Amino acid sequence: MLAEMTETKKIHNFSAGPCILPRQVLEKSAKAVIELDDIGLSLIEISHRSKEFISVMEKARALVKELLNVPENYSVLFLQGGASLGFLTAAHNFMRKDGKSAYTVTGEWARKAAKEAKYAGEVDIIATSEDKNFNYIPKNFEIPANADYLHLTSNNTIFGTQFKSFPESSIPIICDMSSDIFSRKIDVSKFALIYAGAQKNMGTAGTTLYIVNNDLLGKTEREIPSMLNLQVHIDKDSMFNTPPVFAVYTCMLTLEWLKSIGGVDAIEEINNQKADLIYGEIDRNPLFEGTTEKEDRSIMNATFVLKDETHKEEFDKLWQEAGISGIKGHRSVGGYRASMYNALPLESVQVLVDVMQEFETKI
Ligand SMILES: *Cc1c(COP(=O)(O)O)cnc(C)c1O
Repeated sequence: MLAEMTETKKIHNFSAGPCILPRQVLEKSAKAVIELDDIGLSLIEISHRSKEFISVMEKARALVKELLNVPENYSVLFLQGGASLGFLTAAHNFMRKDGKSAYTVTGEWARKAAKEAKYAGEVDIIATSEDKNFNYIPKNFEIPANADYLHLTSNNTIFGTQFKSFPESSIPIICDMSSDIFSRKIDVSKFALIYAGAQKNMGTAGTTLYIVNNDLLGKTEREIPSMLNLQVHIDKDSMFNTPPVFAVYTCMLTLEWLKSIGGVDAIEEINNQKADLIYGEIDRNPLFEGTTEKEDRSIMNATFVLKDETHKEEFDKLWQEAGISGIKGHRSVGGYRASMYNALPLESVQVLVDVMQEFETKI
């Protein structure tokens, strides 16, 4: 059956998430659902405590450590609940009882993170770009020294902006990296906690990566429900309850793929090439304009609009004919969003640029 799996019609998948994964990850994970590594059983019908699955979990965690140079005193966990539960988990593990936290609201997910943190305590919004529909990243904002942590969203998936560098902070930094983890080099030691839903650069929906500085846990003097308690999950090696085995497996495969092509250094270079290509065309082509400040442009999600909406139907027809999928913009921005996650080849971006140029000749 698997031998018959052939390449389907070439689609250029710019979906914002869930999104494109490397072809070999799809093939290997499909095979593992039938039979894992010649053991005669499916990945999804064996115990998560079997040596086969424990080895998958350990490999996935080890690859995270290796690819991101995670320091010794950090733990790597694969949990559930998405980044959306991460919003609450972050607050519960780092906000002291009667303490407060500082949030930057740079987009829709950042706003949701701040909203959830309010269930745990006081939230101070110290910077926001809401005044301009989140089209820029606030800079040089004051970080209150008496807050328990600063929360950032590294890449604003919907609005297409990204922190190019992270602020210097005397208080711990927590960062939601759901839509740009593994896309560029980061210094993990600058963060108390990094969390990321898997379904953008890592694997399928169903698991969430946490990378946490062990030394900073256990200081809140609050009771944390077990499923939200990172120390509980650390003590149980990410197996406090049944882990999402399929999602963890796809992460392991994607990280193996990333390592095989040269790791984060190599992919960052390719991601920069893809971003340069699309933004170059957005700036050159008189029919389009970007929606964000240039210096804050995301290398993962490029947002742009037609200067004259009357030609929309014609443009939409062209890209659909070229096999492009998933570039419709989020309703809060409109226009288009080209999401260029790690697995999207440069060639797909070239196809989109070609369509934009063809469109220009037709108008
Ligand atoms: C997609 C996304 C989320 C939501 O993740 P879930 O896993 O669906 O909860 C949170 N933050 C950012 C930055 C995202 O891109």
